[in-house]
Amino acid sequence: MSVSGTATLDLDALKARKAANHGEKPGLVGLTRPEMAEALFNAGVPERQLRMRVNQLWNWIYVRGVTDFADMTNVAKDLRQTLADHFTIARPEVVDEQISSDGTRKWLFRFPARGAGRPVEVETVYIPESDRGTLCISSQVGCTLTCSFCHTGTQRLVRNLTAEEILGQLMAARDALGDFPNKDAPNGAFIPESDRKVTNVVMMGMGEPLYNFENVKRALLLASDDAGLSLSKRRITLSTSGVVPEIYRTGEEIGCMLAISLHAVRDDLRNILVPINKKYPLEELIKACREYPGLSNAKRITFEYVMLKDVNDSLEDARDLVRLLKGIPAKINLIPFNPWPGSNYQCSDWETIERFADFINQAGYASPIRTPRGRDILAACGQLKSESERMRKTERLAYEAMMIANHGD
Ligand code: SAH
Ligand code: SF4
Repeated sequence: MSVSGTATLDLDALKARKAANHGEKPGLVGLTRPEMAEALFNAGVPERQLRMRVNQLWNWIYVRGVTDFADMTNVAKDLRQTLADHFTIARPEVVDEQISSDGTRKWLFRFPARGAGRPVEVETVYIPESDRGTLCISSQVGCTLTCSFCHTGTQRLVRNLTAEEILGQLMAARDALGDFPNKDAPNGAFIPESDRKVTNVVMMGMGEPLYNFENVKRALLLASDDAGLSLSKRRITLSTSGVVPEIYRTGEEIGCMLAISLHAVRDDLRNILVPINKKYPLEELIKACREYPGLSNAKRITFEYVMLKDVNDSLEDARDLVRLLKGIPAKINLIPFNPWPGSNYQCSDWETIERFADFINQAGYASPIRTPRGRDILAACGQLKSESERMRKTERLAYEAMMIANHGD
């Protein structure tokens, strides 16, 4: 479904965006088509031109990836100036880029301050493989949850990222990879699917995407917009620790692929590894998975299972895992634990992981063991942690109070 027509014009939201932008020019990235039309109208674009201008801008921004209004050669010069006076389509600042010996790349992006906050930094990882290029995107700076084996979980939540910032990671990564058509390419040129560098997106970076639902939804609907970034929803995977009500909403309102950070098959252990389990225990989580729309052999849920030595890696665990997932079209992704400084766990032995994988395979599940990528640049799963400025304590308490009001934990 395209984003157009799904939102109504909301002038107040636009004003709020501008105010929240610290007097900075508001960004056009992350707006729906009706919102962009409203923004252009407010900047003086005549009403009868709005649809055409939005289509032109959409193509320049999302298909061709320009970051400067001056490059929009089919837009009249004075309008380009007007746009530049009112809005920005700038990318986040690239603070650092590291390239692993295995080709994995990790960027540290900085986003300007919003509201009363300070600039923030997040990490984004690109994993090239023979048949695909996967970009691992962050949804929050830090995380409110405290999964005991995850490095991000040791960093307090600084703030949610906006849709513009979530998409900014995708677009800035594509810049760095040369994954937009060259500026002089024929008008409207798409990069053919087979030549794309970023073919898949996973919301598996820093943060819990379902605790930032509205921004993540907006960003993913724009990422899959046919006339824009045009990633198929089959190639977008959202990973969650198990925020059950928002899993239902993800199915209904986003329709992307789902991954669940399962990691344990008994409530007592999962309460420790993934503490949100105390609020949404396994039974409720598995029910939400069973009811995820459109599941089939071609559209399966991925269950992520981190292999922790002597904690969750016995054959009994494997047997209970198979029992738990019975009847759900599922892939089981075994992740060797990636250690980080100060972590209290060890990775299971390789033979144990293989024995676990064999058991699951024999039960009929695909269970790839995820090869750790980019370990030398601390880019592997669960290792992302930026040392951004924190929210002031009062802001953080206010934020946490809001989360408790929303989610009751
Ligand atoms: N917050 C979301 C998405 C980010 S984490 C979630 O929890 O699903 C991406 C995946 O990496 C999750 O499955 C997470 O549990 C896993 N992970 C976290 N720390 C890890 C570590 N140290 N080693 C291996 N996997 C880890
Ligand atoms: Fe947050 Fe996911 Fe890490 Fe848990 S595993 S602390 S939900 S980022």
